[in-house]
Amino acid sequence: MRKVYMDNNATTRMREEVLEAMLPFYKDEYGNASSVHSFGRTARTSVDEARAKVARLLGVAREDIIFTSGGTEADNLAIKGVANALKSKGDHMITCAIEHHAVLNSCKYLEKEGFKVTYVGVDKDGVIKLDELKSAITPKTILITVMWANNEVGTIEPVEEIGRLAKEKGICFHTDAVQAAGKIPMDLENMPIDLLSISAHKFYGPKGVGALYIRKGTKIIPQLHGGHHEMKKRAGTENVAGIVGMGYAAELAKIEIPQEVKQLTGLRDYLYKGITSKIPEVTINGHLTKRLPNTLNVRFKYLEGESIVLNLDLEGIAVSTGSACTSGSLEPSHVLTAMGVDPADTQGSIRFSLGKDNTKEDADYVIAALPPIIQRLRDMSPLYEKGR
Ligand SMILES: *Cc1c(COP(=O)(O)O)cnc(C)c1O
Repeated sequence: MRKVYMDNNATTRMREEVLEAMLPFYKDEYGNASSVHSFGRTARTSVDEARAKVARLLGVAREDIIFTSGGTEADNLAIKGVANALKSKGDHMITCAIEHHAVLNSCKYLEKEGFKVTYVGVDKDGVIKLDELKSAITPKTILITVMWANNEVGTIEPVEEIGRLAKEKGICFHTDAVQAAGKIPMDLENMPIDLLSISAHKFYGPKGVGALYIRKGTKIIPQLHGGHHEMKKRAGTENVAGIVGMGYAAELAKIEIPQEVKQLTGLRDYLYKGITSKIPEVTINGHLTKRLPNTLNVRFKYLEGESIVLNLDLEGIAVSTGSACTSGSLEPSHVLTAMGVDPADTQGSIRFSLGKDNTKEDADYVIAALPPIIQRLRDMSPLYEKGR
């Protein structure tokens, strides 16, 4: 059976050449990057080269990059680290209702610790309401954290404008760019962003390694205590192989972004056209243009996403209902709910997230497999009967 993987926002297949670059560090080059001997120096040099490559992907200075265990840790470090560092200045933070749970639950944790958090809403396309954000700012606001691009629907947020607003008021600005990094061009040189999280496994690198960009002068308190690793901001022996893999994946992404944006946008829109030409009552979730090139989230009226996912899986097609964290529960997606999607319709949504390996043949396979599944499920759905 053909296998079609279209769940690249959950994770990507690591590139062969990235794995090759990592292997020596699991074998002969096993030094600790903090050791002074030749083994250690080899590891240190490789970590620093990877740091420069990640910095180039973002357009920042290499000494402003801190390696972490992934996007989740980078988000936790940014949010808790700034809250701890600035608590004498204020106790209020602003975020967005459709953030990843790494951000939302860090904020919830801080609420228990006594901080106040405003969760700003989004419009029907998933774009943050800037007016609401502006009026949420108080003299006690110490941090604004809003994602660059949403993982479920792909909507791209106006981070430059938000950053400018924050800067005018002297407020620290963090963005979770885990879905944006390596997918769309980024140049932070002149962007008003203080902290930015990324994760290697979302751009064809290894799992378990990520980074936090911390602009020089940003006050932050470490969340892991131990040795003097990573400019004393993140203790723990460096994951040398993972970091090397992340660096190489970043270097390749930087070169390939323009070409990949074109290829994936074309394929995504081809897939959408194919689906809508054969299936009635399908709606896109997310912004039509301000959207990640690889992401297509659609809802099929009268249905439940989980059953579509399972039926597609039987055909060898891997997609998801949105975020990997909420699947398995019947809770409606917090993202679609915040976008104001009718509660009866939030369940019937499917996310196709394409990747560099996907071909037109993959899209054709999906376009052929999906209509009979949708028809069968709709024939079984009591809502479908009523809706006619
Ligand atoms: C995947 C993801 C994360 C978490 O990154 P991990 O490296 O898997 O911990 C955070 N934010 C967003 C938007 C993501 O898509």
